[in-house]
Amino acid sequence: MSTQTQLCPCCSGVAYEACCKPLHDGQMPSTALALMRSRYAAYALCIPEYIVQTTHPASPQFSLDTEQWLQDIEAFCKETTFERLEILSSHEQDNLANVVFVAHLTKNEENASFTEKSFFEKRQGKWLYRSGQLTEGHAPHLVTTNQPRLLPLAYYGDPILTKEAERIHAIDDDLRKLVEEMIETMDACDGIGLAAPQVHHSIKLFVMHNPVEKGNKTLFQGVKVMLNPEISSPSADTSTISEGCLSIPTIHADVQRPSEITIEYTDMQGTRLKERVKGWAARIIQHENDHLNGILFIDRLSESEKQKLQPFLEHLKNRIHDGTEL
Ligand SMILES: [Zn+2]
Ligand SMILES: [Zn+2]
Repeated sequence: MSTQTQLCPCCSGVAYEACCKPLHDGQMPSTALALMRSRYAAYALCIPEYIVQTTHPASPQFSLDTEQWLQDIEAFCKETTFERLEILSSHEQDNLANVVFVAHLTKNEENASFTEKSFFEKRQGKWLYRSGQLTEGHAPHLVTTNQPRLLPLAYYGDPILTKEAERIHAIDDDLRKLVEEMIETMDACDGIGLAAPQVHHSIKLFVMHNPVEKGNKTLFQGVKVMLNPEISSPSADTSTISEGCLSIPTIHADVQRPSEITIEYTDMQGTRLKERVKGWAARIIQHENDHLNGILFIDRLSESEKQKLQPFLEHLKNRIHDGTEL
């Protein structure tokens, strides 16, 4: 077969020239699925620039060190053989989409295939890859019949993140749906906690993975939902831990907080509960509760540390908002 009729590596059965090449040359993909296919083809043909250009700045994969990132992608492309792309499902709604696919790959003559549920977000009319849940091998259970339920995040610079949230007065179907979507969003973004203002709902609610301390290890078991939380009796004892936030991607800093607190909250059954917590639970709850009061972890840093972070924060703000709201 001559190169002129080279089939597109995205397995569309169409010639590359008429399939993914125009996208690699700068044309905008009309659907998230087209973007997904063209990204697979870019990996197969080793075009790292295309992967970088089509990754959402808030993606866990996004790196400010573009040089290193390009090199890493190139290394991955070179050691991998891209056998075949198999699309299992694709859902698109407004500015959000998910695609479940199997990437049939070989690495060092071994099967390195995986199934991924990828999430995409349209930003200024352009589809971008945001995050993915990966499972080794062929995992059709990742296919869901639901519409994409990943909620758009509010990022650093968005005024909703500096506002005090409203108290919740009723647990209804709308709230139950929001909680479900928040949990899915938290998991898709690899977060351990997520507060409602981070998904553009200014109400006193957060979800978190429930840490269980076993010896000196922490296991996360199940998810906790807290409505109208109130913190009291912080311990004089403090601890310093490096924190990050889904609304401030790629930035981490040491934050000092009380080691133990008392938390009072309402659960989704409407029961008011009171617990004394320490360790990771105390840490996550304080971080998330701060969001409900319009406080970010970077506000908890000393002036000098904040100064040090300032250029990175400015860079991030420009990168994400690009002059307009997401
Ligand atoms: Zn293609
Ligand atoms: Zn946060």
